[in-house]
Amino acid sequence: MADLSFLKNIPLTELHTHLGFSVSPTMLWELAHEQGLKLPTKDYWEFEKLITIYDQKDYEEYLQLYDLTEKIQSSPEALFTAIQVAISGAYRKNNITKLELRFNPILRARGGERDLDHIIVFTLQGMERAMLKYPVKAGVILMMDRRFTEHENAAIVKKAIKYKYRGVVGVDLAGPIKRTENSQGFKPKQIAHLIKQAKEAGLGVTVHTGEATNVAEMWEVIEELKPNRIGHGIACVEDEKLMKHLTTKYIVLETCPTSNLHTKLVKNFDEMRHMYSTLKQHNVPFTINTDGPEMQRISLRGEFEKLLDNQILTVEDILKANKIATEASFIRYTGR
Ligand SMILES: [Zn+2]
Repeated sequence: MADLSFLKNIPLTELHTHLGFSVSPTMLWELAHEQGLKLPTKDYWEFEKLITIYDQKDYEEYLQLYDLTEKIQSSPEALFTAIQVAISGAYRKNNITKLELRFNPILRARGGERDLDHIIVFTLQGMERAMLKYPVKAGVILMMDRRFTEHENAAIVKKAIKYKYRGVVGVDLAGPIKRTENSQGFKPKQIAHLIKQAKEAGLGVTVHTGEATNVAEMWEVIEELKPNRIGHGIACVEDEKLMKHLTTKYIVLETCPTSNLHTKLVKNFDEMRHMYSTLKQHNVPFTINTDGPEMQRISLRGEFEKLLDNQILTVEDILKANKIATEASFIRYTGR
């Protein structure tokens, strides 16, 4: 096992983690019961298996894991607690002192039954409260979804702008690709005007692309949306020109190594080694993230260990990735 003593006294930054996947099964179980939610099982261990990943899954199947955690987090009170435990856990377990957490408020509104402002304000207050307990600077990224109508995505951006001085630091786009007609027909161009509004308001922009989607979509995202960062973006290793573009424009990749193994988008450590060495060769700025530590059953430090043990990255690479993450964080945008 790699020696992680080089991380002693190094504050860590994590940019890409989903709130839905950052709360422990125990806490989600508690939150579900506090709300009197009917769960698909009465057995805790079965429940744990439903919301954590044990084997590799197809991408679409993997995203279904979100459905239940989103349901459990669908109340202002649940989010108030969920974000606190996500932030305090990140600090205690990993010494993460800068943390961006992302979530989709509409997917936590029980089909419009819950008020979005309540959902967001309680989340931001939970975040503030965690920051009173631990020396962490945290920020929230509100996510649009490929399945949403334009109207719904516009509502997300509107709320992100409304709460930008209160802890929302950026916007993102995510969601299944094949699940619905909307998601199948989704083109990044459709949200270009929304991204523009977010940028003009001073918010950071990141987009999930080049994960389960191809290089062609990555190009479209870069040209139409001009994001500051890209969620995953690993498909770029197939395209020299694209890597060059990412480097010159300094578009930072938020890579999530174990997540890519879990979704079979990266087959094994050999493929992963090749991927990171290609990124390094072309000087593409990248960061290391968990994508959601509790659901993946990993930690950021554990990811570093895994990358070192499998000779995928060196100590210098890891320190560099952490430095890039700290500097590329959207938290600076709103002066927090
Ligand atoms: Zn993600």
